[in-house]
Amino acid sequence: MTKGIGAQLIMPDHMNKKTVRDEGYELEDAGSRGRLIKLLIVDDEEIMRTFLNEVLREEGYEIQLAASGREAVDLLTASTFDIVLTDIVMPELDGLGVVAAAKELPYEVDVIVMTGYASMETAVESMKLGAVDYITKPFNIDQIRIIVANRVKERGLRQQAAEGEFYKELSRRDGLTDLYNHRFFHQILETEISRAARYERSVNLLMIDIDTFKHFNDTHGHPAGDKALKQMGHTLQRASRSCDYVARYGGEEFAIIVPEISGDAALRMAERICTLVDETEFEGEEVLPLGRLTISIGVATFPVHASSKSTLIEAADRALYKAKAAGRNRVMVYEGDTVN
Ligand code: GH3
Ligand code: MG
Ligand code: MG
Repeated sequence: MTKGIGAQLIMPDHMNKKTVRDEGYELEDAGSRGRLIKLLIVDDEEIMRTFLNEVLREEGYEIQLAASGREAVDLLTASTFDIVLTDIVMPELDGLGVVAAAKELPYEVDVIVMTGYASMETAVESMKLGAVDYITKPFNIDQIRIIVANRVKERGLRQQAAEGEFYKELSRRDGLTDLYNHRFFHQILETEISRAARYERSVNLLMIDIDTFKHFNDTHGHPAGDKALKQMGHTLQRASRSCDYVARYGGEEFAIIVPEISGDAALRMAERICTLVDETEFEGEEVLPLGRLTISIGVATFPVHASSKSTLIEAADRALYKAKAAGRNRVMVYEGDTVN
C-alpha cells in the first residue's frame, strides 16, 4: 500500500478557507451547546496526523493526536472524546483494535476509519465491529470535513433527544421523593381510567396519608420531616409493582394508581403496605402517639365506586377520612353509593 502523502491526498482546486461551517454545519446547531467537539486522530504516519490536524482544527474541533492504536486506547481511556478518526493499517494494535476498544469505553464515541481502496474489506469489517463510517484514501478534504460534520450533527441530535427525554421525566417527578408529582398523577389517572373504560377493566386508587405527621414535624423540625417523607417514598415505591404509579400527592400525602387488579386484591395490597410502613423503622418515630410512624390508606375502585377521575379521588379520600376517624394505621375501602 502506498504510504506517500502525495498518493493519499487529493487537494481539490478550490481548497480555500471555506469550511464546512459555511455550508450550514454550525457546531452549535448540532446540539453541542457551544462545547468544543473533541476529536482523536490516530495514524502512524506523522505527515497524515499533521495534515488532518490542520484541516479539522480549522473547523473548530479540539484535536488530539495518537501515533499508534495503543496510544489511542490510552488517550480514550484517560479522557473522553466525541469522534475518533483512525487509520486501519498500523503496526501492533490496528484500526480494528481501536474500534473494538472504543466499544468497551464507558462513554459513547463514534469511530470513523480511514482506509485505502485496497482494504475495503477491512473497512466493512470495521463497520461490523461498530465503526460508524469510513473514509477512503486518497482523501478528498471536503469529504473528510463533511463526514466528520455529519457525525457531529448526528451526535448532537441524539444528545438532544436524550436530554429531551431526561427533562420530560424530570418534569414529572417530585423533587424531594423522586416519586411522580401531583400534575403527572392527574395525567396518568386520567389515561388509566380512559383505558379501563375502553377495555372494561378496573383501576384502583390508594390515597395515603401519614398519621399525626404534624407532631413529628413540630418535635423534630422540618428537615427531619423531609427525611422521613423521602424514606416513605422509597418504602411505597418498593412495595409496589413496576406497573403501578406511586405519586406524592402533596405535603405528607401519597397516592398509588394500581391498574388491572380487582378491588379485593387492591385492598390486600394496601394492607400489606400499611403493615410494611408500620414495621419499617423511621428515625425519630418514637415521639409519635403510637410510638411508630404509620399511615392510613383509603381505597376506591373504578368503575365500582366511581365513574370518573375526580369522583374516584373523592371516593378514595372519603375512605381515607374513615380510616383516620377509626383510629389511623389502617386501610378502609370506600363504602356507599357510586360517586358519579
Ligand atoms: P393526621 O393523622 O390526621 O393526618 O394528622 P397530621 O398531623 O398528619 O395532619 P395534618 O394535615 O394536620 O398535618 C400534616 C402535616 O404534615 C403538616 C406539616 O407539618 C407536615 N407536612 C406537610 N408537607 C410537608 C413537607 O413537605 N415537609 C415536611 N417536613 N412536613 C410536611
Ligand atoms: Mg394530610
Ligand atoms: Mg397526616
